[in-house]
Amino acid sequence: RPPHHTVPQMCASALAADPDAVVIHAFDRTWTYAEVDAEAHRLARALAGAGVAAGDRVALFVQNDPIFVTGLLAAWKLGAIGVPINPMNTGRELAFQLEDSAAVALIALPGLWTQVAQQVVADGIGDVRLVILAPHTAWRQDGEQFETSSVPVPPELLGRVGSAEVVSADTLPDGSDYTPGAVCADDVALLTYTSGTTGRPKGAMNTHGNLTFNAETYVQMSALQPGEPILAIAPLFHITGMVGHVLLGLRVGAPIVLSHRFHPQVMLESIRHSRPVFTIGAITALMALADCPAATAADFASLRTIYSGGAPIAPALADRLEGIFGTYVHNVYGMSETSSPTHLVPRGQRAPVDPVSGALSVGRPVYDTQVRIADEQRADVQAGTYGEILVRGPQVTPGYWNRPDATAESFADGWLRTGDIGFVDADGWYYLVDRKKDMINASGYKVWPREVEDVLYTHPAVAEAAVVGAADAYRGETVIAFVTLHEGRTVNPSELIDFCKADLAAYKYPRSIEILDEMPKTATGKILRRKLRGT
Ligand code: ATP
Ligand code: MG
Repeated sequence: RPPHHTVPQMCASALAADPDAVVIHAFDRTWTYAEVDAEAHRLARALAGAGVAAGDRVALFVQNDPIFVTGLLAAWKLGAIGVPINPMNTGRELAFQLEDSAAVALIALPGLWTQVAQQVVADGIGDVRLVILAPHTAWRQDGEQFETSSVPVPPELLGRVGSAEVVSADTLPDGSDYTPGAVCADDVALLTYTSGTTGRPKGAMNTHGNLTFNAETYVQMSALQPGEPILAIAPLFHITGMVGHVLLGLRVGAPIVLSHRFHPQVMLESIRHSRPVFTIGAITALMALADCPAATAADFASLRTIYSGGAPIAPALADRLEGIFGTYVHNVYGMSETSSPTHLVPRGQRAPVDPVSGALSVGRPVYDTQVRIADEQRADVQAGTYGEILVRGPQVTPGYWNRPDATAESFADGWLRTGDIGFVDADGWYYLVDRKKDMINASGYKVWPREVEDVLYTHPAVAEAAVVGAADAYRGETVIAFVTLHEGRTVNPSELIDFCKADLAAYKYPRSIEILDEMPKTATGKILRRKLRGT
């Protein structure tokens, strides 16, 4: 059980243990715990000055930058709720999240001002009363080289914009004498917007209790010791980066190695100079890292523990990555609604591959977490039988922000309905079959896209694969596939179809395969099957 009930409590004890511990390492600079806390106090005083109080929403529209950490800590010092927003969002998408959360303050970087200005400022930025812009350092690409460059806050952006005041973070008064309020375990700490893989994003409410529980899960899965660096390859706005990078680092007193954006070359440079011990991210990010030309000369030896979550890993891909990183890529399963992990492959253990479906296990339930596999009538099914995964545990959300309809739909007698279909084997290992919404019904047969994709991944030319259903007058739906190829490889679609036929029943193999230059993906690297379906 977590020794702390709230994130501020968790941070206060780590800070007291070692105020000089480096907790952020970005570019050429490091920040100690005491420095991070002082900055959070300064931001908290400014937010409080604008009337931000317990329960109010503070939006963060920034890349993987130190202000993400200090800004969140500031919000939590006031009992406010953090709303991390994907920095790749357009003005329209930003407006949706600001409106949906009714955020009263916004912390942003000047490089993202276009999106803020574009759609929102004319209306006075919704309910936003205070905008804090932070100067920052970014990587700039110069041909093959990456260089750091400082981005100041342009003075012309400061001042009043409609009903909002825009200030610069580096001119805020000291906040060391500022005493914030207290929060409790059931208070909402974050609105984590789901990735929008199956529809419009929903704001999952994560409480302080949810977050501190899974911070502890990460301590166990990483076995991280104070001072051991974490390579931040996941975006911090996503729950994986939030808990697996930020909260883990703050809990342990370990440096979170930050870069503004995911670029394989920048990551390799970070690995070279920071020697990170732990990382977690999307499988696509790990693939990009492994496959970039400079990876052949890279030294990955410091990375003792690697986890991948958020999207399926084809067994063939897991083997290939192990060959490159020299260490096994562990699977972890979770969602925004569960502050990420509900299942994971324990460190140092290899996950089994199910002999029938060919799926790689997502692991075993996290401690104190209950799991059921249920049929359409919500009755438990036997080991080996497919059903919807239901979870109950200290990390599970109390519901979605402002969406009583979605909350009611997602809960059944206190169990969270994940919308994922899976099964458990006789030894207690869990497997994901696919998302309920992605099932293909071909002539009345159920086809789960992931199984077909796993077969495509075993073909040496295939880099990525996505399978969807297409309307078919005769079968109802028919299976079609999209693939991208490894650089320099060629294959024709009919060869690939024959390749699938050899391994899959007649109703499962793709009737057509299209070769794409690039897969449509979410910001967190998940393949968007709904785009490929055209829905
Ligand atoms: P939305 O709910 O808006 O459609 P999303 O479900 O992709 O988006 P997240 O909360 O980021 O948003 O992702 C959780 C989902 O990701 C899970 O429900 C599951 O389908 C998938 N997932 C997570 N981990 C894994 C994993 N290890 N293997 C396969 N799928 C995974
Ligand atoms: Mg979801």
